[in-house]
Amino acid sequence: MDAEKKLNIAAGLVFVLILLIAVVPYRASLSTRATVVELGRIQNREEKFEQLIDALRDAETGQRGFLITAKDSYLEPYHVALGEIPDARGALLQMVQAQPQELAALEEIFRMVDLKLKDMAHMIEVRRAKGLAMAEPVIAVERGKEYMDALRQLIAVQQAHLANRRGELRQELERKSQDAFAVEVGATVANLLLLALLMVAMTRVLKARQATAALVQETANTLGRSAAEAERRNVQMEVSAEMLQALGSISSAAETSRIIASYCAKLLPGMSGTVYLYRSSRDLLEAQASWGGNSSSVEQLEPKDCWALQRGRAHATRNAGDLCCAHYAQQAVFPVGRLCIPLVTQGEVIGLIYFEGLAEDEASLKAQQQMLDRLTEQIALALSNVRLRETLRMQSIIDPLTGLFNRRYMDETLKRELGRTERKGLPLSLIVLDLDHFKRVNDTFGHDAGDLLLKSVANQVRDNIRGSDLACRFGGEELVLILPECDLATALERAERIRVAIASIDLLHAGQRRAAPTASFGVSQFPLHGADATALLKAADQALYRAKHSGRNRVVEAKP
Ligand code: GH3
Ligand code: MG
Ligand code: MG
Repeated sequence: MDAEKKLNIAAGLVFVLILLIAVVPYRASLSTRATVVELGRIQNREEKFEQLIDALRDAETGQRGFLITAKDSYLEPYHVALGEIPDARGALLQMVQAQPQELAALEEIFRMVDLKLKDMAHMIEVRRAKGLAMAEPVIAVERGKEYMDALRQLIAVQQAHLANRRGELRQELERKSQDAFAVEVGATVANLLLLALLMVAMTRVLKARQATAALVQETANTLGRSAAEAERRNVQMEVSAEMLQALGSISSAAETSRIIASYCAKLLPGMSGTVYLYRSSRDLLEAQASWGGNSSSVEQLEPKDCWALQRGRAHATRNAGDLCCAHYAQQAVFPVGRLCIPLVTQGEVIGLIYFEGLAEDEASLKAQQQMLDRLTEQIALALSNVRLRETLRMQSIIDPLTGLFNRRYMDETLKRELGRTERKGLPLSLIVLDLDHFKRVNDTFGHDAGDLLLKSVANQVRDNIRGSDLACRFGGEELVLILPECDLATALERAERIRVAIASIDLLHAGQRRAAPTASFGVSQFPLHGADATALLKAADQALYRAKHSGRNRVVEAKP
């Protein structure tokens, strides 16, 4: 049974009890009233007896006056009194009707009254008819006095009896009124107690109801929060899946960092942060990308500046007393929560993500840290995939010995660059170079020395071209340089510079300085010497051929 039902039943019970309690004083007052009525009746009877005696006395006085004077005027009070007597008799008779004992006493009194009245009437008769002398003997008998005395006595007995009864009733009334007072007080106290009990019960039920309402509200809030949390997580999962998909299609680390930063801005509203990656020398980490516009991130940091890198696990700071990383300690404003998580792939730390603006309450913070851990793991995995892809791609386009691009890449690039320069209406030059008498180097100093020389030549070439130029190993000891947006004259100049640089290479073998290697060059320019890659290459190659035949170690331009 629920509390409300109980309360209803209790309220009903209290109501019934209050009704019952109200009956008690009512009954007491009824009984008191009965006593009061009885008392009134007694007084009434006493009065009626008084009236009867008074009337008889008045009648006697009148009669006596007549007996002496024979004047009828003296009989006036006699007649008045005679008129009153039946009234008093009737009233008295009515009052004692149901009480046989009293009735008997009353009849005795009435008998005496009748005798008295008869006597008086007789004496008046005699006095009127025969005169005073004849009446005197009758008067002298004093029968009238006897009757009156007897009557007085009879009435006195009744009066005493009534006075006694009155006394009893007075006492009874007093007792009853005391009882009624006690009952009244008791009933009031009982009512108050019941009401107090009801109020306590009501307060309890009310409190319970409030607590239930609060619980319901709290549950609703919690449900709302969990729904919002679930929604947020869904969005996060979607965004991070989107991010991983985006990361899956790219191959450069720089682009990766930018993508990570832009997705982090979406995933972590209100937070800011920076992605750091180790330089290849591994002495420094460089900021690759930031989001959220945080002011506390630095461009570069050393591994010793970050506790997360030192310890190899996430490190958070939230309060002034926490152990701060040196890379943000200077700018740290508390209580802004910060978190550094190392980027680890296949057991190797490749960098770090710095997060700023963690959640403030404990519960959200825990969930947030878990989420950031997962996010960082995914990012590390994506980064390592990108690196792997980058390495594979490099392996597929780079010649491992010289570090120059390979022939396949050269073919692709030359076609692409030609298309581009043609659209722009700009020139493009090709340099083909071949080492002179390279076979001899191998034969004389061994294949390793030949390899070494090839590497030195590649370095010289790299040092003497622009960043936008492309050096490729075409095959064996033959290189091709693509110089976009470069005219023939400039290309010839560049070729000459490289020729001199190669000729200046110090060739040491077994501690002996050997004759410097030389190379021959053929140079062609698009569109002057050919409309496509094949034609252009052929033209440069023919120029090279001519350079070989005219004595080697020289630069020859193609024929238009
Ligand atoms: P020329 O001046 O006419 O070009 O004379 P050459 O000796 O360079 O002639 P050729 O081009 O016919 O010979 C190329 C030689 O280069 C053959 C081979 O022994 C050597 N060679 C090709 N690739 C490599 C390489 O990767 N490493 C080494 N050590 N030698 C190589
Ligand atoms: Mg050669
Ligand atoms: Mg050759």
